[in-house]
Amino acid sequence: PIIVFGSINMDLVAKTPRLPVAGETIKGDEFFTAGGGKGANQAVAAARLGISTQIVGRLGNDDFGRQLLRHLQAAGVQTDGVLVDEATSSGVAVITVDDAGENNIIIIAGANGRLNETDVERLRSKLPGAAALLMQLEIPMTTVQLAAQAAHSAGVPVILDPAPAQDIPDELYSRIDIITPNQLEASQLVGFPVDGEEAAAKASAELQQRGVSTVIVKLGDRGVFCATAEETFFVPAFSVQAVDTVAAGDAFNGALAVALAQGRSLREAVVWGAAAGALSATKAGAQPSLPDRKTFETFLKE
Ligand code: ADP
Repeated sequence: PIIVFGSINMDLVAKTPRLPVAGETIKGDEFFTAGGGKGANQAVAAARLGISTQIVGRLGNDDFGRQLLRHLQAAGVQTDGVLVDEATSSGVAVITVDDAGENNIIIIAGANGRLNETDVERLRSKLPGAAALLMQLEIPMTTVQLAAQAAHSAGVPVILDPAPAQDIPDELYSRIDIITPNQLEASQLVGFPVDGEEAAAKASAELQQRGVSTVIVKLGDRGVFCATAEETFFVPAFSVQAVDTVAAGDAFNGALAVALAQGRSLREAVVWGAAAGALSATKAGAQPSLPDRKTFETFLKE
């Protein structure tokens, strides 16, 4: 199975003609809620492609938490690793999107912010036999480090999405097998702008020096740059009519992990990631935009 250790959020999305300024009240056009959180998104992305997937995380004892649990289960994600934390609320993202696609986002970590070593112990019992551990940075960094260490010593490959953008401790690099920043995150990590293939190659070399063997830089609608110990290659993006790129990166990581778990080459896995990312960009919302196996296979064949 694939194991995800990370955040679970309810996204509260308001569509407005333009973003309000401070102190202003405006009329919006539409409102919807959708399952989100980078951890949950990556778990759903993997499970929808038909592979056994588990999530280890926390929810609050509230209606959003119960709804999110049902969403995960409906997508085929095993949730016995999810703890209901009585002390806080479920994670929430309050999102405003205007007609031009610009957005404002407030994330309240809630239960996600309380993941600690006890959650890593729950994770540890699931690691034997796992194909990969997927993590992101919407939970405390110290907990990510403990989990990476646990997976590393259990011989389970760690795929880290360093998102949202922030610096990561030096010790973490050597416990990660694959790191998958987008352009912004790569820039944050290396301290120079990563805005294309050439800069991505430079950034990858820098990150490899810090101890991670494989670097995959997600370059939005341009595609993906990949560097391993043996080679570097570029996979162009699939051409699609993008309406909302929310969770494109999560779709990418989920599909990447599924392909690798099924024994495909890294190059093939990156193509799978790019296909899932492109498909998710054609639909609104985080989890609602993640493709199922049938849609995915049809798209890959075209
Ligand atoms: P993130 O969602 O983390 O910011 P990206 O926007 O780079 O990451 O998207 C991840 C991957 O999804 C890209 O590398 C690309 O392969 C695919 N993708 C994203 N947006 C588009 C798009 N507009 N058209 C085609 N593919 C896309």
